[in-house]
Amino acid sequence: MSTTIAAIATGPAAGPIGIIRVSGPQTLAIADRIFTPQGGGALSERPSRLLTYGALHARDGKVIDHCLCCVMHAPNSYTGEDMAEIQCHGSPAILSETLAALFANGAQQAGPGEFTQRAFLAGKMDLSGAEAVHDLVTAATAQAAENAAAQMDGAVGSRIREIRQCLVDLVAEFLAVVDYPDEEIDSNLFDHACEILHNATRALYDLAETYERGRILREGIPCAILGRPNAGKSSLLNALAGFDRAIVTSVPGTTRDVIEETIRIGVVVLHLFDTAGLRDTQDPVEKIGIDRAMKQAQASALILAVFDSSDDISDDDLMVIARTHGKRTIAVLNKSDLPSALDVATIRRHFEHVIAVSAKTGEGLKELYDLIPRVVGMDGMSYDGSIITNARQAAALVRAAERCEAAFVAAQLGMTPDAVVMDAEGAIAALGEITGQAVRDDIVATIFDKFCVGK
Ligand code: GDP
Ligand code: ZN
Repeated sequence: MSTTIAAIATGPAAGPIGIIRVSGPQTLAIADRIFTPQGGGALSERPSRLLTYGALHARDGKVIDHCLCCVMHAPNSYTGEDMAEIQCHGSPAILSETLAALFANGAQQAGPGEFTQRAFLAGKMDLSGAEAVHDLVTAATAQAAENAAAQMDGAVGSRIREIRQCLVDLVAEFLAVVDYPDEEIDSNLFDHACEILHNATRALYDLAETYERGRILREGIPCAILGRPNAGKSSLLNALAGFDRAIVTSVPGTTRDVIEETIRIGVVVLHLFDTAGLRDTQDPVEKIGIDRAMKQAQASALILAVFDSSDDISDDDLMVIARTHGKRTIAVLNKSDLPSALDVATIRRHFEHVIAVSAKTGEGLKELYDLIPRVVGMDGMSYDGSIITNARQAAALVRAAERCEAAFVAAQLGMTPDAVVMDAEGAIAALGEITGQAVRDDIVATIFDKFCVGK
């Protein structure tokens, strides 16, 4: 018999309303003991999902809140079990006292992601759908949420099951042949296999490739702002962030520590790092700052190289050019409000993306906003759930694609049916890990460990 679990589902800070979820076989009995509907009757007898107003009781029976509560009768609930949701006032005292009352009546503290894990185990959603729930809780942009919502609804799972079914059918055909070794193998069978395996391989690699952008969608990208002292790095960060954070000063070399700011540029979340100005210096403290700036730049997926367009290119600027070589970089020619003194042709020779802005007046910022998603390949996408955002799924997809490709090669060479079957089965197993049709318990456990308690 399964336990009955309970957890606070809303955040740790006090809010107007707090939500506690309960799931498991004892839910209805426990709910009746701690909640009295106004006007009488038992909460457990109410229809599913109907909010009922009433009194909430602490362990000692005293009324600690007047609030809303509802039950959801199995199997029509998130977990597939009997569930209750208490929507009380959001003071941490009320929430913890209510949780204590639930525990006193037989419920246990839910572990991280345990509600969703139960939903997965009850077949309410496949594993890729369950993982999308975590994406939804942590979505930083509307587009990330849109993609995750479609995946929670089964967008990845149904695509994977479709491909998996083709492979399962193919293996069945081959196994039928293997069972009669004396018969001549029809060459049509290999031709047919080649076509199926070729298409499956392509589809799997295509899906796996979406992960590069999926990761950006989910996690955002680290972006270092590099440039010589006084080029306007801190000003640019502030202009992009839309408010004052870094200290802007006209004394060169004062930004010695790396300052981070997370901003949203359309669909892209940027983790911006304002770094120390790059210049040749003997000052040991400044050297450390420059060292840190270089490390930051190395770890960044995008660099904004800032130049002062009111001044000519200096040796320090040449250092910036050299250090950004081979990295995805946008050259930002700052101070466009001042007369230009910069040799722009030289800059253009080194950078594919060059843009003039003024951190002071805001000129060119809109263009920079539009350029950034394009440079990182995040423009013109659709967020219908076809973007893989999950590292585990991406790795399984690559493994599935590789095994599929190996099966294709075996079929093309007309090798024994066994060879084709072995690799096709490897691909089927890898796909089963994504949907959860064939996945080890310990892997499932680590997936839900990452979730928050209450989800
Ligand atoms: P950093 O050392 O690269 O971080 O440069 P700061 O952001 O501290 O800016 C250096 C100086 O340039 C400050 O006096 C800023 O006010 C000035 N500055 C920055 N951006 C602009 C700009 O677009 N136009 C003008 N006229 N001055 C700017
Ligand atoms: Zn600065």
